[in-house]
Amino acid sequence: MSNWDAEETPFDKLHEECGVFAIHGHTEAANLAYLGLYALQHRGQESAGIAASDGRKIHSVRKMGHVADIFTPDVLNELPGSLAIGHTRYSTAGDTVLRNAQPLSVACSKGQVAVAHNGNLTNAIELRRELEQDGSIFQSTSDTEVVLHLVARSRERTLAGALRDALLQIEGAFSLVFLAQDRVIVARDPHGFRPLAMGRLEIDGQSAATVFASETCAFDLLGATYCGDVKPGEMVIVGPEGITREFYTTPGAPAHCSFEHVYFSRPDSIVFGKAVAESREQMGRLLAREHPVEADVIVPVPDSGVSAAIGFASESGIPYRQALIRNHYVGRTFIEPSQAIRDFGVKLKLNPVRHLLEGRRVILVDDSIVRGTTSRKIVRMVRNAGAREVHLRISCPPTISPCYYGVDTPSLRELIAANNDIKQIEEFVEADSLAYLSLEGLRESLHDRDQSFCYACYTGHYPTLVQLDEIVMAKTGCC
Ligand code: AMP
Ligand code: SF4
Repeated sequence: MSNWDAEETPFDKLHEECGVFAIHGHTEAANLAYLGLYALQHRGQESAGIAASDGRKIHSVRKMGHVADIFTPDVLNELPGSLAIGHTRYSTAGDTVLRNAQPLSVACSKGQVAVAHNGNLTNAIELRRELEQDGSIFQSTSDTEVVLHLVARSRERTLAGALRDALLQIEGAFSLVFLAQDRVIVARDPHGFRPLAMGRLEIDGQSAATVFASETCAFDLLGATYCGDVKPGEMVIVGPEGITREFYTTPGAPAHCSFEHVYFSRPDSIVFGKAVAESREQMGRLLAREHPVEADVIVPVPDSGVSAAIGFASESGIPYRQALIRNHYVGRTFIEPSQAIRDFGVKLKLNPVRHLLEGRRVILVDDSIVRGTTSRKIVRMVRNAGAREVHLRISCPPTISPCYYGVDTPSLRELIAANNDIKQIEEFVEADSLAYLSLEGLRESLHDRDQSFCYACYTGHYPTLVQLDEIVMAKTGCC
């Protein structure tokens, strides 16, 4: 079997990085959803969409590309109403076509329903097979469509009842936002893998809109106040009758994604109730304590290593210098479609400041090594700019296992730390020394005293049952 692709499974991919947003009770719902998605752009740059309801009909626009390019004033004018949901998506290999862009929508006996999803459903393959055997016809290769089919087929008479029904059948990671003609409904999986924050946007001192977003940085742009998170296993309904919160299931052991704090979320967000910048700086401080080395300068790999490098510098007393300058107008190199472009992308994205590096012993700080190819190019770049020594420090443990809960990680075969020890990785990236933050260090940085985070990509221990055999075989080519 070759790499996982659309021919082997009904889905285009296992890992979909996304951002979701929802708003209820504001006459400019689509405009505000646009702003919210703009702040969540880092969570997915391939496609974006907004569905809005004017109380009678749901209007929807989904396109490939960046939020700011898609949602021109004319396009936003096509989205009237005081309720809206939005989505920004990034997918890796396989099908990256428009039909997978979200929100997805359906018209069924419960009326029109649109949905946007952050996460990954681990039982989507079997659910889709069952639904297809029963006559369902799928329009996309996205696992999210399974949810809509389950809703449409539910015997429950109300939408909330049908959603409950659907939510109880899906497994894995999901922060879901639904839009119906007159209400917004959101839900989070029982383990709370992916974040979903709730906020309040004052309108005129007397009324307020209710907002939901993957990260609180979306609230900051809107001027909304963060009121806490949708809880694992919780469903929140915002409709004409007000806000109803209920647990559609018993919450499981919490498994918040630690990688959101390591890399994925913006540092100015509060995620799972904790400030990301703070946990990242603490990762850097503990990394400095665990793996000190004599050097002249600490240099972050921008932007992913910045907060950890600040922490490393404050703990070690070694000066912090921005000796790699990032061109912000180039997309994340990691998401380029082919290896050739990815390699080229490093040079497009980063440029060394020779006069800060020449003759110096450099500690380069980054958040993670996945394949190792980008890290090697950056180490080479720093050395070619005259650095005497290059010591690489990584602010999380080695990534040894793929994520099945909605973060894009390559196959086991491509994960450098799954197949090499630290000495071998050090040689591959051509660093004078390489060291990672320990699992205990990461846990301490997150103040995770009651084991409420997922660390599966660092440990290989998954908090839920995943169809590992099938997935790993498909992804590694084993049979
Ligand atoms: P590499 O050395 O090729 O493994 O690339 C490492 C770089 O990829 C680091 O700078 C990380 O910040 C970045 N990175 C890690 N995980 C992801 C991800 N899921 N999506 C995008 N970039 C990532
Ligand atoms: Fe996050 Fe890693 Fe767990 Fe995936 S496996 S949810 S990336 S911690």
